[in-house]
Amino acid sequence: MKRTANASLKHLNSFAVDATAGQLFEFRSTGELDKFIQEHGFDPNRDLILGGGSNILFADDVEGTVLVNRLMGKSIVNDCHDSSTDTEVLIDVHAGEVWHTLVMWTLDQGLYGLENLSLIPGLAGAAPMQNIGAYGVELSDVLDSVEVFEIESGAIRELSLPDCRLSYRDSRFKSVDAGKYLITRVRLRLNRVPRTNLNYSGLRDELTAMGIAHDALPTAVQVSNAVIRLRQRKLPDPEIQPNAGSFFKNPIVSHSKATEMAQEYPLIPVYTLSDKQSKLSAAWMIEHCGWKGHSMGRAAVSSQHALVLINRGGASGKEILELARLIHKSVFDRFGIDLQTEPLIVGADV
Ligand SMILES: Cc1cc2nc3c(=O)[nH]c(=O)nc-3n(C[C@H](O)[C@H](O)[C@H](O)COP(=O)(O)OP(=O)(O)OC[C@H]3O[C@@H](n4cnc5c(N)ncnc54)[C@H](O)[C@@H]3O)c2cc1C
Repeated sequence: MKRTANASLKHLNSFAVDATAGQLFEFRSTGELDKFIQEHGFDPNRDLILGGGSNILFADDVEGTVLVNRLMGKSIVNDCHDSSTDTEVLIDVHAGEVWHTLVMWTLDQGLYGLENLSLIPGLAGAAPMQNIGAYGVELSDVLDSVEVFEIESGAIRELSLPDCRLSYRDSRFKSVDAGKYLITRVRLRLNRVPRTNLNYSGLRDELTAMGIAHDALPTAVQVSNAVIRLRQRKLPDPEIQPNAGSFFKNPIVSHSKATEMAQEYPLIPVYTLSDKQSKLSAAWMIEHCGWKGHSMGRAAVSSQHALVLINRGGASGKEILELARLIHKSVFDRFGIDLQTEPLIVGADV
């Protein structure tokens, strides 16, 4: 357990925004967390739960306490390695484990399931928050259950996959129950036999570029390497250009709205989600409005990816948010689409 008063958050958020917290409380066990909450309480309007800070924009300081999760440990719960009927493997991961390190560890164990989610920044405990997803796979494809600390009662509860209500970049933890639970552990359902997902079209092309024959079934390590190559090429590195990944979600619209958009803008990428809904490319709309690569003072839109806002050096959260608001307005004026932000905005309404 570690407490720091008036702490800088600059190195605890991938936007590198220089906000401060009234107090930083780092806990290594649920016992330490429970004791702290009993003594100080937790008010979501004043206090904040923080993981790796890669999906957050500090538009203001945090008046109260920032709870930094350092719950470490990962283990294989059951391994049906020797069984001919069951090849599934359950693994438990404590919330403070770094997501990408976890992915690499599962590959070392010969497990399939997380390879498409390689190189996503942040900690395991935040993964259910927005049902992290990339390259055709979402956490919901591999999540078994989540252990949470209920802040009001101090009780530890187990929530099944359906209980978590995961959807595209959303969950009950991010929406209706925001601030109610601290996720302490996730249980994942992985596999010893290939469960390769190459639905994302660019992935097969990348594997081919790596010399893997078009008709070959790639290993999990090969898929992971392809994802890493794609991500390193397409996304700005937060260590060099501080950012929080995609700033806006891809809007989900009815089929009739998607058809209307496709008729007016034949080049807009449209993905069918279900028999009722389609997803539109927010990046395409933002680029179409002329924002890609555009700078506004110390904030900018990445020239590599129109969905990524970057801190060019010393930008405040308010400056980045101001740019986001202008992008939101121009997309709305042009396409009638109300873009939703992906990161948590602290200290301001969007
Ligand atoms: C370069 C880059 C690329 C990215 N690519 C992707 C991508 O491909 N797909 C994707 O889905 N995301 C992506 N992201 C976003 C981000 O990495 C994920 O959302 C990640 O899961 C956030 O983890 P974190 O630990 O940094 O969370 P934080 O930013 O610390 O927190 C995010 C939210 O979760 C809450 N939270 C954190 N930990 C807990 C906990 N233990 N219990 C309860 N609440 C908690 C926080 O209060 C906050 O509301 C990207 C970000 C960057 C910078």
